[in-house]
Amino acid sequence: VPNVTVSLFIPYFPPTILQLYEPERNQDWCIPFSVTGNPKPELQWYHQGQLLEEQDYIKTQIHESTESEYHGCLQLNIPTHIHNGLYTLVATNKFGEDQKNVTAHFMLIPDVEAVSAALTPMLVFPFQVYVVVGIAGVALTGCILMLIFLKYGRSSKFGLKGSSSVISNDDDSASPLHHVSNGNNTPSSSEMGPDAVIIGMTKIPVIENPQYFRNPGSVLKSDTFVQHIKRHNIVLKRELGEGAFGKVFLAECYNLSPDQEKILVAVKTLKEASESGRADFHREAELLTNLQHEHIVTFYGVCVESDPLIMVFEYMKHGDLNKFLRAHGPDAVLMTDGQQSLLVELTQSQMLHIAQQIAAGMVYLASQHFVHRDLATRNCLVGENLLVKIGDFGMSRDVYSTDYYRVGGHTMLPIRWMPPESIMYRRFTTESDVWSLGVVLWEIFTYGKQPWYQLSNNEVIECITQGRVLQRPRTCPKEVYDLMLGCWQREPYMRLNIKEIHNLLHSLAKASPVYLDILG
Ligand code: AMP
Repeated sequence: VPNVTVSLFIPYFPPTILQLYEPERNQDWCIPFSVTGNPKPELQWYHQGQLLEEQDYIKTQIHESTESEYHGCLQLNIPTHIHNGLYTLVATNKFGEDQKNVTAHFMLIPDVEAVSAALTPMLVFPFQVYVVVGIAGVALTGCILMLIFLKYGRSSKFGLKGSSSVISNDDDSASPLHHVSNGNNTPSSSEMGPDAVIIGMTKIPVIENPQYFRNPGSVLKSDTFVQHIKRHNIVLKRELGEGAFGKVFLAECYNLSPDQEKILVAVKTLKEASESGRADFHREAELLTNLQHEHIVTFYGVCVESDPLIMVFEYMKHGDLNKFLRAHGPDAVLMTDGQQSLLVELTQSQMLHIAQQIAAGMVYLASQHFVHRDLATRNCLVGENLLVKIGDFGMSRDVYSTDYYRVGGHTMLPIRWMPPESIMYRRFTTESDVWSLGVVLWEIFTYGKQPWYQLSNNEVIECITQGRVLQRPRTCPKEVYDLMLGCWQREPYMRLNIKEIHNLLHSLAKASPVYLDILG
């Protein structure tokens, strides 16, 4: 058979834009299009009539092509409302040109809408409207929850502190907007705390990572042995604080350590636990049993003989880091002026020492593929000799090296500590923990100020999603602010690696030795 070469001749013709759709969300946002033309048309986008410069965040991608048909997307990474508006696609080749328009509204993401809705102060309607809307809201929520419960069974999580940021900055926030006004179907600000917002009213089942139990390095091992402590060995002394699920007490615990008859412990209580609450409690205890590091608060065990259920932790003498920072800041020192006070303003080297220890704890969590999701100074504890540990995992349950994590129900999101991708898409990763660590550094170097204290929650969301970052604190060395900026890169993969951050802080802290005696 003779060889015959068939060359297909495709006639030349001008471009036609067959389709241009409204944006859809996959991993990124995409404005899909289909174009024909021969030769291959050049594609050019305009946003609100202005030529769109393509870059890393916004670029044209062709996913599929035949001889003369091209299907693709204008891909946008974490667009915000500034990307809303009219998009024009112009396709050109030497035989002609075609163009089509489409309108994009990226801020119509349910999560962010819900944030705004939950935070909008209800000032304009008369009281009766609140009551009616409130009743309707409660009824609707009840129905939705019941349907979801029927469909998915239990999905609520027991939290050591509920949704973790509940008790934050409850005292002396510098923020004039400390108390957030809530809509009628959201909890009161005292329940919610200033650093938290409620997102959505539906409970979305947790995306479990199938590797969770299989991986031998996993923090959740199937054969975990949780220590059980007898009730009569725990003697309560005084209240230390209150979380959303129960009180925290200082207690003496007998027969816990072989070399001491009794030691001081902090006990967290869970009152009136439901069936599912109990199951979550045990799961949490297993997780905590497996998290062991010098900069993670030590978990001793549980006491489940009777109600309330109890978790026993090591007692950290100076309480949570946020209060500690404020108590050792310029305002506190001013307040005690003239008195013989032990309160001394923290030095820069002490701040570095604190930061370095938190970073060490985070290196460990990352090594365990554990995403914290709520790293903040309020969730760290301070012991003797300026020993600092990460002490609360209220929001981090169930997370294990999944890139995507959905939080449902009455979840409170600590937006001031969150990167754009967590705010907009609830994407929580080790990289989003790195962002939060940057915010923790900022908290340390401002003596515990609330991030963006001058802004309302709505404004914070706007700011962060637009790419603004916190300013350099007055007392912060340039190297440390550069570190913060490295944590606040918009693209998660561009952020500093947790190990790099720790190494840098470690060498900075080493270069300026800490004098601990004044802090006891
Ligand atoms: P939490 O529910 O974890 O926020 O705890 C409420 C308060 O109890 C915190 O703000 C701390 O001041 C205190 N607290 C919690 N755990 C400990 C602990 N292990 N040692 C000392 N104080 C603690």
